[in-house]
Amino acid sequence: MQQKIPTIIIVGAGLGGLTLYHALIKNKDKKEFNVKIFDRESSPQERWQGYHIGINNYGARSLINCVPSSIALNLPKAIPNSVPNIEYHGFSLSDHMGNLLLRPPTKQAKDVYEVANISVGYSIIVTYRDKLRHVLLENVPVQWGKKCIRYEETDDGVWVLFEDGSKEFCDILVGADGINSPVRKQKLPELQIFDYGITMIVTDVAVPKNLIDRLTKLNGNGTFRGTLGLNGEASATILRFIPIEQKNYEDKSEPYYRTTIFFEYPSKLDDVEHDKIKVDDNDPASVVDHVKYMIRKLRPECEMTDILLELWNLVPKTTSKTYNPVRRRKMQDIDPLSVNAWTSNRITLLGDAVHATSPVLSSGANNAIQDAEVLSNALLNYSPENYISCIKEYENEMKKRSSAEVLKSRHVELKQTSPVGYIGSIFRNNSIRVSNFIMNLFDYNFLARKN
Ligand SMILES: Cc1cc2nc3c(=O)[nH]c(=O)nc-3n(C[C@H](O)[C@H](O)[C@H](O)COP(=O)(O)OP(=O)(O)OC[C@H]3O[C@@H](n4cnc5c(N)ncnc54)[C@H](O)[C@@H]3O)c2cc1C
Repeated sequence: MQQKIPTIIIVGAGLGGLTLYHALIKNKDKKEFNVKIFDRESSPQERWQGYHIGINNYGARSLINCVPSSIALNLPKAIPNSVPNIEYHGFSLSDHMGNLLLRPPTKQAKDVYEVANISVGYSIIVTYRDKLRHVLLENVPVQWGKKCIRYEETDDGVWVLFEDGSKEFCDILVGADGINSPVRKQKLPELQIFDYGITMIVTDVAVPKNLIDRLTKLNGNGTFRGTLGLNGEASATILRFIPIEQKNYEDKSEPYYRTTIFFEYPSKLDDVEHDKIKVDDNDPASVVDHVKYMIRKLRPECEMTDILLELWNLVPKTTSKTYNPVRRRKMQDIDPLSVNAWTSNRITLLGDAVHATSPVLSSGANNAIQDAEVLSNALLNYSPENYISCIKEYENEMKKRSSAEVLKSRHVELKQTSPVGYIGSIFRNNSIRVSNFIMNLFDYNFLARKN
């Protein structure tokens, strides 16, 4: 007797959910599923999906393994080829004056396909998140405007319930619904979000070449650059050295570069009222004024501080429909191994829903994409009798890999945001310089995996 084709429902059409959809369809000849994917947004354009993210060699390999060749060929639209002799794809960290402290050896690759082939060491390439999502949406029949509110498990399947009153039945439910996942909250209520006590503000701006040149002169041509302060505050910029289309910029003869800018500081500093600026997170102008106030208050007068202030001056002052409107946000993560009780069943989780990660080491999307590969491979052995062992196989690998990365990011983030003062900064900066020397001497990058 022919067996019925099992149904898999993916809740969440973000980077993780979409990659899983493609992987399940790509494996159709080996194991066929009826795959349905839902997202709460009313359309793919409802929110701007921007900012830059890094795709590393682990994420790139999984991505290319999961997507069909038509999408793999389109990846350079979202992950443009490196600009030779101009860009250095990798992290660099400076002190508050912009003096370089750390630049771990990172393998340079000409394009995303070469990044994916790097199996020893570490490589990363800056990616436009919005364009990557757009590329991944090709041929995916996402059902938009379907906000999942909860599910009901029965003996032979799962009902997924939506806010609009509709419901859908499936054999396996995958919650790929981001950090506030209702699927996680129901399946694992004890798996709590960890709050760092750090406030972060992030946005994208168009930066004129003369400002990028000043930044590059200070601390090199890294595509991910950070600066560490004395009071627990830190800044970052992520960019490609690829000019963007000129639109309304004042000087049309000068190239502009889309740049993600980021500023963070201990949240307790928000409790100290400053009389000049009242911050309203729904008013971008007040948030930008607040960031500039913090920079002036926490940083000494120097070229690096001037550059940071000029970058924040470029932020549009009016509210626009952005994925991350300029507002203060809490730095948070989820460690999937922080709870013992974890019963594998028909409901599983993927990506930020189960292991949201602080952005400092750029691993969140990479892990969501790797989850998709591991889960789709595990499901090749699916049968009505052994589906639990498939889910268990996936969850065991996912928990171990992603927990290690969540905790590594947490460790680095908490270290770089602990206030050290002037004397403490001398010790901290020298110890980073020593680590940098050793890493470069032995061609070792702490982000590379052992296997
Ligand atoms: C500033 C910043 C920089 C970052 N930089 C990097 C980086 O360099 N490298 C990196 O790897 N990662 C980075 N990340 C993290 C990365 O963006 C996320 O880890 C990644 O997008 C997670 O993918 P996901 O599919 O799990 O979740 P998401 O991309 O959040 O997608 C979740 C989807 O679920 C939908 N959804 C939510 N709730 C519901 C519901 N109830 N019903 C239906 N649908 C729902 C949402 O609309 C969304 O489409 C960064 C994050 C930030 C904030």
